[in-house]
Amino acid sequence: MMELDNFIFDLIAQEQDRQMKDLELIASENYVSPQVMQVTGSVLTNKYAEGYPGRRYYAGCEVVDQVEQAAIDRIKEVFNASYANVQPHSGSQANAAVLSACLKPGDKILGFDLVQGGHLTHGASVNFSGKLYKTSFYGVDKETGFLNYDQIQEIALRERPNLIIAGATAYSRDIDYQRFRAIADSVGALLLADIAHPAGLIAKGLLSDPIPHCHVVTSTTHKTLRGPRGGIILMGADFENPFGLQDNKGNIRMMSSLLDASVFPGNQGGPLMHIIAAKAVAFGEILTAEYDSYIRQVQRNAKAFENALRTHNFDMVSGGTDNHLLLIDLSSWSISGREAELVLNNAGITLNKNMIPFDTKSALQTSGIRVGTPAITTRGLLEKDMETIVDLMGDALRSKDDANKLKGIKEKVSSWMMDYPLY
Ligand SMILES: *Cc1c(COP(=O)(O)O)cnc(C)c1O
Repeated sequence: MMELDNFIFDLIAQEQDRQMKDLELIASENYVSPQVMQVTGSVLTNKYAEGYPGRRYYAGCEVVDQVEQAAIDRIKEVFNASYANVQPHSGSQANAAVLSACLKPGDKILGFDLVQGGHLTHGASVNFSGKLYKTSFYGVDKETGFLNYDQIQEIALRERPNLIIAGATAYSRDIDYQRFRAIADSVGALLLADIAHPAGLIAKGLLSDPIPHCHVVTSTTHKTLRGPRGGIILMGADFENPFGLQDNKGNIRMMSSLLDASVFPGNQGGPLMHIIAAKAVAFGEILTAEYDSYIRQVQRNAKAFENALRTHNFDMVSGGTDNHLLLIDLSSWSISGREAELVLNNAGITLNKNMIPFDTKSALQTSGIRVGTPAITTRGLLEKDMETIVDLMGDALRSKDDANKLKGIKEKVSSWMMDYPLY
């Protein structure tokens, strides 16, 4: 036996302590169940299984084939999808696989602007998606903070993209995928919905469903879906290859096989079988009544958070939320997002700075912060607790230079959180 790596185990213990004690408002984070946690640390991490169930490049895959098939079957049931690929290592990898299956370098994509709420993989210049493809962007309406579909239609007609991405990382409103499909059809573009953030709410019918309208759908598995870190690719109706897309040998194939080939061997090698098993477990959990009440509570808590923010004089982009997150505009508090993130972190409240649409500050400073309810709802917090949280946030921001006061709030937060044990 090798000696225990105390250095790393000590750090893990410290991180576990932090996760137990802090109030976790990062909109993209969650706490997985004990069984999902256990499976991510299982012997499946030892197995190579390049390929897909029943057609692998390694021996000894009889067991992991069943694991992957279960993950595929369960997520298809969750979303009523006709196709699923559960191998992408992350949401970004899922997007990379879709873009490289559907586009040639130099083709055009239209995505949600990163500085207004989009994701890096939707065409940001620092990302592969901005380097390989010609990009154009849509954003939100300056007055309302909502997507303006007439404007998106205009941009699409002007730019003639080959592929449009509907989806965001910091947008608190529902998305009209049917309208997006009409826009895509009007210019002959493929439509990709990236539901990395709101996937759990979509799965339970709490937001509009992209599956009937979009050619391809991608998601992460670790945000509202509450699984291990990872990605998935789904398809609903457009199972056939509507645009006659070709593989690298020039053959027109089904979309499903183009996507599969793009994940492996196109963009990845061996799948992470321990993670795929943990995805299967999480997807099984999503099919239960317990998850159904969980995700409904996530949305109710976000609404209660919105109401509490309003009574405490916080401005919100678009004035509120339909989903699990809120973008807070701190302009009237004369504090930057960066400073607010630091101050609140010192008070035991974890969240992230975020640019607001038409922000006058840089991405490193920002005028906003983003909050979400998926993690605190897993801890068991309810509507009435949102008032307490916003109260604590206001207190901390008003006492930003008072280290003792912030320490006091941090102690209050941690003793509160210890009443909601996790593992
Ligand atoms: C979080 C997110 C991703 C990427 O997820 P990673 O797993 O971090 O790569 C992709 N798209 C959107 C919209 C996201 O919010």
